[in-house]
Amino acid sequence: MKTYLKYLDENSAEHKHTRSIHDELDRIAGRCEEELLISPTQLNELKERLDNKFECFKEQRKLMWHGQVKKVSPRRHADIAQRYMILFSDCILVCSEESGRKLEIKRELSMRGITIDVVQTGRPFTVPSSDPQANPTTYYQFRVNAVEKSYEFLVEKESERELWVKKIRQVTDDYNNRNQATEMRHSIRQQLEEPQPGTRAPIWVNDVDVSRCQNCNNRFRTTIILSRRHHCRCCGRCVCGSCSTKKLTLEYCKTEADVRVCDTCYTSFTGHPLAKNSSIWPKTTRHVDQTILFGDFRSVSSGTLVWIALQEDFQLHVFGAKLDEAEDYCIILSDLLDLQFEAETRKFELKETTKNHSFAIDSNHQITYPKSDFIDEQLKTTDSKLTFYANLWHEAMQLARSTTLPDWYIRKRDSTDSGVSNVG
Ligand SMILES: [Zn+2]
Ligand SMILES: [Zn+2]
Repeated sequence: MKTYLKYLDENSAEHKHTRSIHDELDRIAGRCEEELLISPTQLNELKERLDNKFECFKEQRKLMWHGQVKKVSPRRHADIAQRYMILFSDCILVCSEESGRKLEIKRELSMRGITIDVVQTGRPFTVPSSDPQANPTTYYQFRVNAVEKSYEFLVEKESERELWVKKIRQVTDDYNNRNQATEMRHSIRQQLEEPQPGTRAPIWVNDVDVSRCQNCNNRFRTTIILSRRHHCRCCGRCVCGSCSTKKLTLEYCKTEADVRVCDTCYTSFTGHPLAKNSSIWPKTTRHVDQTILFGDFRSVSSGTLVWIALQEDFQLHVFGAKLDEAEDYCIILSDLLDLQFEAETRKFELKETTKNHSFAIDSNHQITYPKSDFIDEQLKTTDSKLTFYANLWHEAMQLARSTTLPDWYIRKRDSTDSGVSNVG
């Protein structure tokens, strides 16, 4: 029918009619597939694959969805593990697939308090292939935040992600409705205040998103033991060893031994401030509410990725990673001797009196900017996002050289009360 459709005039009644039959059949086929996936036969099969180690047949427990997903390690973004996820009406099983199709339960997540986020980074998640010639693999991300642990999952199709998100939301809604009476007090408390620290597993900040400790801004150096990366088990931030010397018992993992926490969390729990010589650490220079543009560039000389923020002080602040608060260095645009822009390669050449810089916008470029109607509108009508971004940067840099803010930025800034944006 698809082929038939191709040969019909798109404006004809015949096309319209065929299209609607095609869509309807598609919907029915989709529904049948969905039904099959949660049939008793499938449940029996899963029970067997789980080696009868899990009580699949239990009152109030229904199979809702299952399938393969990939799990991203917060340690290294490139570390991806295959998992098999089974969604029941009262819990989620995250399993690894062993030999002979056996499933080993890695973690059972209770349905209580589960939330799900669709990770919208403006671009799909890409993983570079081991073959440099091959295109990176594209994935769609979603996050499951359970009390016991938070997971970042990847699937290969957007429609697949939609299904997972839909199913999990459905189950959590049903679960919450069923348990409304008993959960009432709990949910009201949750709405009124942030969840108490330590009562649920935090989402770990990805190592690749920081090049500095999120507590003291000191640069991580992989060779020096002292500035290794650690994750605070309470807030999930990535911090250095000297900012995470303490351990605490946390509610969500109190059956385990004491766990590592950062100094900030330690102080807020115990009320004991930790003495520290703060003056030696670099200061925060990333000011989200004063940021005109923020995005990733490739340094042409070193080939490394850098994050650049053009801020209201008309300087380019160059950061080592996306979530860094302190910069590596900055370029004062009004002092530049020359600024060259090569549209074709999307390359910027900046000449300072003593130094030259060269940055290019990669094919992976993601711009994270304070939300602006102007940019949203332009993006809708543009054929090439990268060209649009490159021109936007070029224009804003040119204006900054004569200490001028772009019109669209002023409009946006003045139309929002706080000026605080969703730059992340
Ligand atoms: Zn630190
Ligand atoms: Zn912390």
